[in-house]
Amino acid sequence: MEASPFHGVVACLATMHGKQWALRPLLRRRLGMSVRVAPVDTDALGTFTGEVRRIGSARETVVRKARLGMAATGSVVGLASEGAFGPHPAASWTPADVEYVALVDDRSGLTLVESALSVETNHGQVVTEGRDRGAVLAFLRRAGFPHHAVVVRPATGPGQPVKGLRRLADVLVAVRRAALDSADGTAVLGADLRAHVNPTRMRVIAAAADRLARRLATPCPACAAPGFGLVGTEPGLPCRDCGTPTAHDALLVAGCGRCAYRSRRPVGGAADPGACPVCNP
Ligand SMILES: [Zn+2]
Ligand SMILES: [Zn+2]
Repeated sequence: MEASPFHGVVACLATMHGKQWALRPLLRRRLGMSVRVAPVDTDALGTFTGEVRRIGSARETVVRKARLGMAATGSVVGLASEGAFGPHPAASWTPADVEYVALVDDRSGLTLVESALSVETNHGQVVTEGRDRGAVLAFLRRAGFPHHAVVVRPATGPGQPVKGLRRLADVLVAVRRAALDSADGTAVLGADLRAHVNPTRMRVIAAAADRLARRLATPCPACAAPGFGLVGTEPGLPCRDCGTPTAHDALLVAGCGRCAYRSRRPVGGAADPGACPVCNP
């Protein structure tokens, strides 16, 4: 670990939502790096409940967030995390959570973003009338309440969301109030996706942080900069029956964040003839 260029470094982590619990132990163990919380208003870059719309992709936002913490604390090394919830990229009927974790190091000019995708998410919401206790209870069971908090807002109108609800009595009161505040008499009850009240999401953040830490612990074989790792794939996996290259991934490409060095390693195996342009035109 002494060889790690991050050994003894104190990085600032921009978070209001307890993300140090997911990042700190991993980064200390794998890199010898310490984490100091930069309590900046990360909600200014977007909220899950929609009061502030996020500008740009999660990958861009996570770097901006790390920079915000660095500016606030004067740190030369910054960390941040950002999540994106939506349909799975390869299976649109399944909800997924993609978590991004970034490290920005102004000492070396390195910016590295790693991500983790999980279908383990309680992301979701339900529209309910003020007195429909059955619908509320059914949603709470699905959302993993009370280990996971929920959010309530009026279905229409300017009413603000009530976040971080973890007691049934509070949820029922909030739903009744929100329904009264809404022109159509209904409330939206949803999962609270903020990390500190959503342990399922916190686990995905930890998985992304683990990837980042492993990668930072891997030096580039050409220039020795930290952060060598998977940067992409290349298609061309041969058909099992006739050997024609298909659109399936054939190579894993590892790259450096600083120099142009790339290494390629075969995925192995063969593609199903169903994906072959010759066997299944
Ligand atoms: Zn390199
Ligand atoms: Zn074929």
